[in-house]
Amino acid sequence: MLKQPVDENIFEYIFSRWDVKIKIEDEAREYKNRILTSQYGFEDGPIAKRKKELDNPEENTIFIKDLALDLGADLVGISKVRREYFFKGSELDHRFAISLAMEMDYDKIQDSPGPPSATEVIKIYCLLGEITIKLASKIREIGYPAFAHHPRASRRIHARILHIPTAIESGLGELGRLGLLITPQYGPRVRLGTVTTNLPLIPDEPLNFGASEYCEKCDICVRECEGDAVPKKKSNVRGFKKYRVDPYKCGPYFAEYDGCSVCLKVCALNKRPE
Ligand code: SF4
Ligand code: SF4
Repeated sequence: MLKQPVDENIFEYIFSRWDVKIKIEDEAREYKNRILTSQYGFEDGPIAKRKKELDNPEENTIFIKDLALDLGADLVGISKVRREYFFKGSELDHRFAISLAMEMDYDKIQDSPGPPSATEVIKIYCLLGEITIKLASKIREIGYPAFAHHPRASRRIHARILHIPTAIESGLGELGRLGLLITPQYGPRVRLGTVTTNLPLIPDEPLNFGASEYCEKCDICVRECEGDAVPKKKSNVRGFKKYRVDPYKCGPYFAEYDGCSVCLKVCALNKRPE
């Protein structure tokens, strides 16, 4: 059993083991190299001299959402930054969070656990990583600070904020029993990235479309998780009652079995494309 502190090294541990154990395909290796060579290290950068104050939050919001979708994100939402979602010691003085989601291919995820689904996971980490970095860079070009929190956050220097609670605040979906964001459009079959900034924006409202309520009556992911990581009951997490997937159980299983996505595959709210 994994013996490392959950909140310190879990992601780094998972990805280092995954890189060793995964039956990684050439395609996956290329995506991984792109992340390492042309994305990590580009999360932040110089801010251009501001030509004019963009003080119309409505117009800024339309601009940012259109740009994110044009760059290739499937979903985009905005929230006020919640300081408690930053990793300890990694806080940024930013007011707004732009949450981005990108769909993973339905059929490839249905193959999980196996190389095709693992390749799809790393592919979406890479494509969404590019979008996140380009969006932050564009914001800095117009004179506002922006940080790209990478979807594959194996180290805190690459992402300083928790994607899932931020995306919930940004109205992209609800937290499911499987510990992931469930979106109305795709269910949990998405990866997430975040850009934080001080560009004035209009936050979205959190969404309630009945997913969390549905989870109260469903336990498919509990039964299907071979790592025994999905909880039957809610527990107290930082003062909130919620389902908390056991990272000591999920992490090693994810690392050993091709980036396991079984809970996404079997989720009753996983949406097949129309
Ligand atoms: S990723 Fe796999 S091991 Fe982790 S919770 Fe989902 S089904 Fe269980
Ligand atoms: S499988 Fe059922 S309980 Fe698990 S996250 Fe999906 S809807 Fe919720």
